[in-house]
Amino acid sequence: MAKLEIHQFLCFSDNYGVLIHDVDSGATASIDAPEHDAIVKALADTGWSLSHILITHHHHDHTAANQSLKDAFGVTVVGAEQDKSRIPGIDETVVAGGTYDFAGHTARIIDTPGHTVGHIAYHFADDEVAFVGDTLFTLGCGRVFEGSFSQMWGSLSQLKALPPETTIYCGHEYTQANARFALSVDPDNPALASRSAEIDAKRARGEPTVPTTIAEELATNPFLRPDDAAIRAHLGMERASDEDVFAEIRRRKDTF
Ligand code: ZN
Ligand code: FE
Repeated sequence: MAKLEIHQFLCFSDNYGVLIHDVDSGATASIDAPEHDAIVKALADTGWSLSHILITHHHHDHTAANQSLKDAFGVTVVGAEQDKSRIPGIDETVVAGGTYDFAGHTARIIDTPGHTVGHIAYHFADDEVAFVGDTLFTLGCGRVFEGSFSQMWGSLSQLKALPPETTIYCGHEYTQANARFALSVDPDNPALASRSAEIDAKRARGEPTVPTTIAEELATNPFLRPDDAAIRAHLGMERASDEDVFAEIRRRKDTF
């Protein structure tokens, strides 16, 4: 089976829309549905016909176009069973730990609470790609709105364990601000310093810094590195648990 084709585009000022397309069947899914017009334009640009929407979490900037896209294209909206009451237009539910079959491509549903309590990620192992919504960002992680720091650390720990070559699509272009913060807690990491410079150059050219990979994030994203000796020394937390170091980094980011 051919790998999924993927098209990413900007919605609003910093949300990413993503279309995934199965070449054999023609099935096309929008990962979340931030902005109707931007998604319709992406469909025109690709020539693909929308059949599904796969929702990561209920926030408005990820579900705003569910109903209008259903009205326009008759698509099937898929989301977490746990959050079905908060996802507009939901038709099919998935459960964490289970799978979802998209046109013969199997997504493992990963429970990723923290940003919201019903947040999920879709991992297509054979396609080596995961759609993580607002849980893991390039050089950052989602703000903890509904869950606990402990839950968010559990969610990131699951994503951290994906194969390093996995391509990661996330919900927002927050990377430059994330890089500035990352350097404040991990100032002596040469991989982070060079990546931060690359990111500034990309943004100056108007290019996205999403997608990323697990390997790149393991090397440079402080939220995946609470076990790192240099970060621990910088925070004066040499003997703390990974979860406590993560929580301290997340708290600092909230007021950075
Ligand atoms: Zn969100
Ligand atoms: Fe968002």
